[in-house]
Amino acid sequence: MNTAFLGLGAIGRPMAARVAAAGHSLTVWNRTAARAAEFAKEAGARHANTPADAVRDADVVVTCFSTSPDVYSILDGPDGLLAGVKRGAVVVDCTSGDPSTSKRIAARLAEKGADYIDAPVSGGTSGAEKGTLTVMVGGDEAALNRARPVIEAFGQKIVLCGGIGAGDTVKAVNQAFLAIHLLSAAEGLATLAKEGVDPAKALEVINASSGRSNSSMNLIPERVLTRAFPRTFKLSLLEKDIGIAASMARENRVPAPVTQVAADIFRVARREFGEEVDHVEIVKLIEQWAGVQIQ
Ligand code: NDP
Repeated sequence: MNTAFLGLGAIGRPMAARVAAAGHSLTVWNRTAARAAEFAKEAGARHANTPADAVRDADVVVTCFSTSPDVYSILDGPDGLLAGVKRGAVVVDCTSGDPSTSKRIAARLAEKGADYIDAPVSGGTSGAEKGTLTVMVGGDEAALNRARPVIEAFGQKIVLCGGIGAGDTVKAVNQAFLAIHLLSAAEGLATLAKEGVDPAKALEVINASSGRSNSSMNLIPERVLTRAFPRTFKLSLLEKDIGIAASMARENRVPAPVTQVAADIFRVARREFGEEVDHVEIVKLIEQWAGVQIQ
């Protein structure tokens, strides 16, 4: 298949590498052109200078930017995606986006005879490298099926969740779980550390008990107890995700005080720690508040 991949960030890059390795003909574009040039050389892909040029021959276009407004921002103008996209192409937006902007992007693409599915992913950069991502899709089943051979290059579990925006909604709620689990695990382990209990011992128990989560089973043992804190998924992006979940709850008049408080704490952390820190570094905020290190 002729494919284009736009957005070679921390997760986009290994996903694009899987698409190239699966044998699809691939053209890439990235806002910071040097990243795309380097990737193209390594992966044997073509490097385009504009979104329009990148998507001109593509049957399937994958986008993976920080936010949905970032995707919307590259649609218009002579160099924009809409100027190049083929009638009958499918745009697979793997951005963890917001459903209302996704619907607006889909409407703009429909004017050009192209389909849009929102297709956020989970499984992290290591899942992208291994091609084991979970892909949650919103949109038309026929469009998903046309894009499926490309999505299968990086996705293992592909679930059609509903109409356009449904993938975004599931992703936002999943991310709210992640943010809340991380915060609650950090608060609990900080308390245990102050009580003089070894966090590793406490996790041995909790991870065999009903309080366990991906945070307690994987993130905290691998990244906090070791003090490694690798930077794979920005805290600023998780703040964006839980913000989407909190606004969806408000729009639907669902009382969601836990989600809202977690969103506010992530906003404070983003302001305090900046744009580059990893999401797991939220634990450091709790450690600062508690005056203790979890290790
Ligand atoms: P990064 O910050 O590493 O990369 C962001 C990408 O978006 C870069 O290619 C960047 O270009 C591009 N970009 C940002 N703003 C614009 C814009 N206005 N116009 C054009 N391009 C833009 O993020 P990730 O790769 O980590 O995340 C991408 C998406 O995937 C996010 O929605 C995130 O929430 C989601 N995600 C990330 C995971 C992870 O483990 N990292 C896991 C699951 C989902 P440039 O290089 O020029 O900055």
